[in-house]
Amino acid sequence: MKLGIVGLPNVGKSTLFNAITEAGAESANYPFCTIEPNIGVVAVPDQRLAVLNEMYQSEKVIPASIEFYDIAGLVRGASKGEGLGNKFLSHIREVEAILHVVRCFEDSDITHVEGDVNPLRDIETINLELVFSDLEIIEKRIQKTEKLIKSDKSLIEELELLKLIKEALEEGNTVRTLDLSPEQQKIVRSFNLLSSKPTIYVGNVSEEDIKNYGADNQYVGKLKELASGENAEVVVICAKIEAEIAELDEDEKQMFLDELGLKESGLDRLIKASYSLLGLISYLTAGPKEVRAWTIKNGLKAPQAAGKIHSDFERGFIRAEIVAFNDLVACGSHGAAKEKGLVRLEGKEYIVKDGDVILFRFNV
Ligand code: GDP
Repeated sequence: MKLGIVGLPNVGKSTLFNAITEAGAESANYPFCTIEPNIGVVAVPDQRLAVLNEMYQSEKVIPASIEFYDIAGLVRGASKGEGLGNKFLSHIREVEAILHVVRCFEDSDITHVEGDVNPLRDIETINLELVFSDLEIIEKRIQKTEKLIKSDKSLIEELELLKLIKEALEEGNTVRTLDLSPEQQKIVRSFNLLSSKPTIYVGNVSEEDIKNYGADNQYVGKLKELASGENAEVVVICAKIEAEIAELDEDEKQMFLDELGLKESGLDRLIKASYSLLGLISYLTAGPKEVRAWTIKNGLKAPQAAGKIHSDFERGFIRAEIVAFNDLVACGSHGAAKEKGLVRLEGKEYIVKDGDVILFRFNV
């Protein structure tokens, strides 16, 4: 999963991104993450892996991972080429979801590029850049489709949809906020528009305000109101605290969070929110060599889920041996679960569930 961090300058993006790279997954497991300076890879926290590791005494544990892309440099006028505008916009095209960092902390020492702290205006500034960029694409597409439609009437619906989108964009609305049918959504996905990407607004609050997740912060209230009308999520963090947490080991981290009265780090909450926003689940594989979590879209059938491991697994799929994580743990071992009939053989139509522990059988 790829997430892009965007936001105006001086809102806390680098602080958050540095915390992410610091907390980063072991690079041995993710060789590519040491290459690109603007990509941070973190492990998806999953307590089930430790339980399976205990059971199988595996050589390796590999959690699922998320790639965070630091897309700094988005400023007012980016769509017109201000700054390195278009370059940054094209980076957004590559990610599956947007984490839009918004400044909700007051600090007179830290300049705000727009003069004062005002999350709604900041969000509009960034969103408008996405909207302008999309509008350009849609207008070109309309011209092309109008030509093609003369010989291909099947494009009528697409043209209608394009015009609907154009209207919304011209009013300054993101494509994400449009109420579209599933068929229309499918067409829209193929356009890969920036303002159609699922979005999480990350409210960056002060060290004081994070203690109750920004409940007393007036800007967070406004942010939540805006997000609820936009099909977007809000996660409240304190980037500075995240930076401190990132330097601690697992035990110290928990102690530090307890002191602050927090259950989980902002990063862990961001990962959870991203999973839920994108409709993702994890299935597990376990053996003496390796215990591992794999991220898939909820609703995938067994062969496609297998394809996540290797395309051969999908092509040559025969069947899957599946036991639910909870059943496996309750029985104590795979053998015991099998004796109780809890290890099922599933075929090509089986829809994989979160926490399924799977062994795929396939032909090469
Ligand atoms: P970016 O331009 O969006 O990447 O912003 P930075 O991460 O560089 O942050 C800009 C300034 O705000 C830096 O001086 C940070 O130390 C400060 N900053 C970031 N997050 C917080 C925060 O949660 N609280 C406070 N007080 N300052 C912060």
